[in-house]
Amino acid sequence: MSAAIAGIEMQAPEYVRRIAPYVAGKPMEELAREYGLPLQKIVKLASNENPRGPSPNVRAAIAAAFADITRYPDANGFALKAALAERYALASEQVVLGNGSNDILDLVSQAFLKPGDHAVYAQHAFVVYPLVTQARGALGIEVPATPELGHDLDAMRAAIDAKTRIVFVANPNNPTGSWVTPSALRAFIEAVPRDVIVVVDEAYDEYLAASDQGQTARWLDSQPNLIVSRTFSKAYGLAGLRIGYGLMHRSVADLLNRVRQPFNVNALAQTAAIAALADRAYVEESATLNRRGLDELSAGAGRLGLQVVPSHGNFVLIRVGDAARVYESLLRQGIIVRPVANYGLPEHLRVTTGLPEENARFLAALEKALKPS
Ligand code: PMP
Repeated sequence: MSAAIAGIEMQAPEYVRRIAPYVAGKPMEELAREYGLPLQKIVKLASNENPRGPSPNVRAAIAAAFADITRYPDANGFALKAALAERYALASEQVVLGNGSNDILDLVSQAFLKPGDHAVYAQHAFVVYPLVTQARGALGIEVPATPELGHDLDAMRAAIDAKTRIVFVANPNNPTGSWVTPSALRAFIEAVPRDVIVVVDEAYDEYLAASDQGQTARWLDSQPNLIVSRTFSKAYGLAGLRIGYGLMHRSVADLLNRVRQPFNVNALAQTAAIAALADRAYVEESATLNRRGLDELSAGAGRLGLQVVPSHGNFVLIRVGDAARVYESLLRQGIIVRPVANYGLPEHLRVTTGLPEENARFLAALEKALKPS
């Protein structure tokens, strides 16, 4: 490296240099390469994906849309926004599309945070909240979790001050699986000052009991500071296409659209999402399979004498002790799960629910991993 460019990184703002990079679940190809394992033998339960993938209708819609990839996608996502607006009884102008819901979280931070501002979120909450906060030079205020690893909404309300611009609530939260009831959440949002944005991240909403789903979007009329973020990456099985959305007041949507890249959601993703939204039965089946998976993983871990954190998502936190060692042993057996030491949980592993045979393989591998070598 030439002397002229060495040290160039020092030109970036200090708050950017301090960001701890996001650590994704290990890709299956990487494990196959590194450990010399056949790809077909690998089980990935590391990124909260739907083990069934997208529905057959969605796969067909993607295949048909493939013919048109020469053209730019619709920058305004007209058809998908119309479908989402109808689903939630909102106006299209209240929907913002994102390249995954991560994009929505990032757009909110771009639109509302500047250096010196505060964003409030819970300890053990989804790691993208601190990331997008730091990327703007704002200060993240992490509020200690409840003893059950959930959000302490009273403490979060108390942490809001004159510098606070955004509060992030993950409901359910990743990686803890904790969930606050609609009534507790509503009381919290009503208690937050109207000039503070409340982001309710509902990436796992489709896994909740039907009566608890989609509640928050109904409050948008009376809560102009509320943003609900949702994704097609989880229950809809479209993580690889990158598509999510935010529901909000139209003036807030207008701001997010100003900082949004015009073609942030690709054409295949838009078409796939419309088909996915229409296939309600598939999502319900996926949620049913997930409940079975949660039971299998919890019962299996319980039989091994391990503590499991009750989860409302499509994953469970299992307390395994020396998580780094158990993670390594599972990798050697071809199973990828997620270490969560970066969430301040060095004794836990997060395990996504898989197909029944995948859950069984994980549990057998876990039993082996726990035996003293
Ligand atoms: N929110 C939460 C709570 C998540 O767990 C995830 C996925 N890890 C996301 C948002 C973002 O997912 P995506 O960008 O794929 O929509």
